[in-house]
Amino acid sequence: MMSNRTFTMIKPDATSKGYTGAILDQIIKAGFSIKAMKWTKLTKEQAGLFYEVHKERPFYPELVEFMSSDKIVAAILEKENAVADFRELIGATNPANAADGTIRKIFAASIGENAVHGSDSDENAAIEGDFFFSKLERF
Ligand code: ATP
Ligand code: MG
Repeated sequence: MMSNRTFTMIKPDATSKGYTGAILDQIIKAGFSIKAMKWTKLTKEQAGLFYEVHKERPFYPELVEFMSSDKIVAAILEKENAVADFRELIGATNPANAADGTIRKIFAASIGENAVHGSDSDENAAIEGDFFFSKLERF
C-alpha cells in the first residue's frame, strides 16, 4: 500500500544561498502538506549514516562533507502518490538534466550540490522520516 508520504531535505547549498523559503513555497504550491519539519545541522557521522547506501560510491566522502557543511531543513510531506510526485517536482539528480521548472533546475548548482533530497521509495521515506523525527514531532 502507498503511504502517501515522502521525506525531503533542503540541502546546505540551498539553505546557505537563502533559497529555503522559495523552495518551501514551491513544495506547498505543488500540493504537499508538511507533516513534520526541522531546521538542523548534521554532523559528519549523521550525514554518513543517512547516506550509508552510497558508502562504496566514489562521491561518498564529498557527499558526507557537503551534507554536514551547513544547515538543512528536514521534512515529512504528504500528498497522494507523494514519493513519485515529489521526485518529479525536484527533477533529475544532475540539474543539467533536470526538466524546466523543477526545483533542481531552478536552484541547484551541480550534481553534488543539488538543493534538495527526495526519498526514492515508500520504504525509504519511512526510514528517512524516522531518522529525523520522533512520534511527538510529526502530525
Ligand atoms: P537524493 O537521494 O539526495 O534525493 P538522488 O536520489 O537524485 O538524490 P542519489 O543517486 O541517491 O541521487 O545520490 C545521492 C546524492 O549524492 C545526490 O543527490 C548528490 O548530492 C550526490 N551525488 C550523486 N551522484 C553524484 C556524483 N556523480 N558526483 C557527486 N555527487 C553525487
Ligand atoms: Mg537518492
